[in-house]
Amino acid sequence: MAQLSPLLKQATPVVVDHGEGVYLYDVDGKRHLDFTAGIGVTSTGHCHPRVVEAAREQVGKLIHGQYTTVMHKPLLELTEKLGDVLPPGLDSLFFSNSGSEAVEAALRLSRQATGRPNIIVFQGGFHGRTVAAATMTTSGTRFSAGFSPLMAGVHVAPFPYAFHYGWDEETATKFALRELDYLFATVSSPAETAAFFVEPILGEGGYVPANTAFLRGLRERADRHGIVLVLDEVQAGFGRTGKFWGHDHFDVRPDVVLIAKGLASGFPLSGIAASQELMSKAWPGSQGGTYGGNAVSCAAAIATLDVIRDEGLVENAAERGRQLLEGARLIAGKTTGIGDVRGLGLLVGSEFVTADGEPDTAAAAAAQKAAGERGLLLLTCGAYSNVVRMIPPLIVTAEQIDEALKIWADAV
Ligand code: PMP
Repeated sequence: MAQLSPLLKQATPVVVDHGEGVYLYDVDGKRHLDFTAGIGVTSTGHCHPRVVEAAREQVGKLIHGQYTTVMHKPLLELTEKLGDVLPPGLDSLFFSNSGSEAVEAALRLSRQATGRPNIIVFQGGFHGRTVAAATMTTSGTRFSAGFSPLMAGVHVAPFPYAFHYGWDEETATKFALRELDYLFATVSSPAETAAFFVEPILGEGGYVPANTAFLRGLRERADRHGIVLVLDEVQAGFGRTGKFWGHDHFDVRPDVVLIAKGLASGFPLSGIAASQELMSKAWPGSQGGTYGGNAVSCAAAIATLDVIRDEGLVENAAERGRQLLEGARLIAGKTTGIGDVRGLGLLVGSEFVTADGEPDTAAAAAAQKAAGERGLLLLTCGAYSNVVRMIPPLIVTAEQIDEALKIWADAV
């Protein structure tokens, strides 16, 4: 008899039988309030009827069209539909399966388009698990330890993580931009820098929002030096933060956005969007893959976009996000163990610290476990895994937020 490799590390002991809306039901019939949403994927809830119907219909028509051999209707329709929501000017799309593959695609695009070797990423960023994406990931050594050497040409600048530095946001931002300029002067000259890869809100790195001054600082340097500004919207996109794109909070114009997770309600699908001008500088045929732009995933994504629009999920994420953030802050105010509660929309993190202000990994793990035992599924994040994060499906109701907060208060 075969068994699963111990390589796989699971955050909860739950074995799921089925999911419906914001709930997961395990094989013993217990109901769990799912505030993980498959790491920010099932934004329309588990098995939304319209997504299920669209996928079911597509399965009977065509499952695998193979987009480097033949084109198919769902991919063309999805491309057209994404035009309604993509940032202005980013009207050229390339599809793949996972967030990591989208990162790889943007990496190749920016190197091919600029002819430059180096990539600058920002401390605490998570971009994926392939060797290139893991090299670009600085949210924890657990994602890259043990298989070095990693890819050459990746350099790291600070992210304005004010709470970590113990500074205000303005000081942290000035520091981050000054260090970026220092990196230009000492390690990776602008003329050798192809791209910046940045998350509008650090996800795996601890749910730390960027800010307008920081992202504008990147935009200004990108313009000055011909560097490609890549916004990794894999976790923050598709309404998660209470605006359609995470970077919509910060009034910044990206050159490339990376999309995945919330795009297809759980079907594997990712992509990159850029202008036709930039995309035309990539070398045709240098990217592809057997499964990219799968027909069933595309049909599910089309239905997902319809549900997001028809059910007002972006607005719901903003309103329910406010409720969740306020509630989590009230709970933190009644304990000494939570040093900071922050987030955007339905992406909320509580950072656990000791009395000395040091990261408290054990307390975060205990709170996450206690919540799980009480029927609220949560994950941790951050370099020290000391941030407990809440990312419910965007369909979550006010009552379900209250239910979760009650359990969270008890668990804390
Ligand atoms: N970028 C970000 C911002 C992510 O949050 C993730 C996944 N957590 C990825 C990239 C990688 O996506 P995947 O796991 O689908 O490769």
